[in-house]
Amino acid sequence: SWLLLTLLGLLMAYGGHRVLSRRNSLTTELHRAVEAGEFVPFYQPVVQGGSGELAGAEVLVRWMHPVEGLIPPNQFIPLAESSGLIVKMTNQLMDKVQADLLGQVKNLPERFHIGFNISAAHCRSMELLERCRDFLKPFPPASIVLFLELTEREIIQATPLTDELFKQLDNIGVQVALDDFGTGNSSLEYLQRFTVNALKIDQSFVAKADSDALSTHILDIIVDLASRLDLFVVAEGVENAMQRAYLEKRGVEYMQGYLFGRPVPFADFIAAHVAPTSK
Ligand code: C2E
Ligand code: CA
Ligand code: CA
Ligand code: CA
Repeated sequence: SWLLLTLLGLLMAYGGHRVLSRRNSLTTELHRAVEAGEFVPFYQPVVQGGSGELAGAEVLVRWMHPVEGLIPPNQFIPLAESSGLIVKMTNQLMDKVQADLLGQVKNLPERFHIGFNISAAHCRSMELLERCRDFLKPFPPASIVLFLELTEREIIQATPLTDELFKQLDNIGVQVALDDFGTGNSSLEYLQRFTVNALKIDQSFVAKADSDALSTHILDIIVDLASRLDLFVVAEGVENAMQRAYLEKRGVEYMQGYLFGRPVPFADFIAAHVAPTSK
């Protein structure tokens, strides 16, 4: 079952032959799916902290498998990353998102944030810079702001190349957000090495924002750190009004979570968040 995908990735560490061949066949299946264009973008709204107005969206990939149906990213992203396929998958995703947004750009709020999750493999060459340039090219100035969300699932090795890459990305106005901030070990190193613009507070801290004193402390410290470093904050996993009120009081600029909307296909996103009254 596809549920085993993530687990198998972990089992690989123990290197059993049967696991190895199973992994190989899953990798083959991933290749096939990339060629067949089965990976599709879902969009989750990101809103302004104070007004709740739409600020943009995060792109979250889904695998539309012809037999298994819709497969969530946790079940294939780790293998896509370790097999290197993630780069091609993300590039295709960017093309689809570009086409989606181009069809609606006149209806979107100005400086619409569009965020992609970027893996370490994408930061090993300057190709990502070209991809971002190509992505932004057809849009009118100031209509779209491209965000790259970096996680610590795989460490991004800081090298002279990454220094140059992030400098150039900064030059063309691409924004960098550190995802799941507060959960990893290298966040502070990332902060130093990459030209970071935003911190995304992990949902585990947001989930307890109204109850658990320790999580509240961590959340407060992250917000404080961000303001000292002149970064803005996105809180993810906001599910209820109490959490929202807490974050708003702390001056968190952007929020994301089921309270505002789940990840959905583009047409649904537009219907729910951009043109809710039409039709
Ligand atoms: P993430 O980047 O931290 O994305 C946020 C996850 O939290 C998403 O899960 C989203 O559906 C979920 N979420 C959003 N709001 C709420 C909420 O209010 N409550 C709760 N409980 N969950 C919420 P999803 O879509 O299953 O994605 C899981 C992870 O897979 C993402 O975590 C991201 O790390 C990875 N991923 C997704 N798409 C891509 C992609 O295109 N490329 C890469 N490299 N990774 C991706
Ligand atoms: Ca993310
Ligand atoms: Ca996250
Ligand atoms: Ca910057």
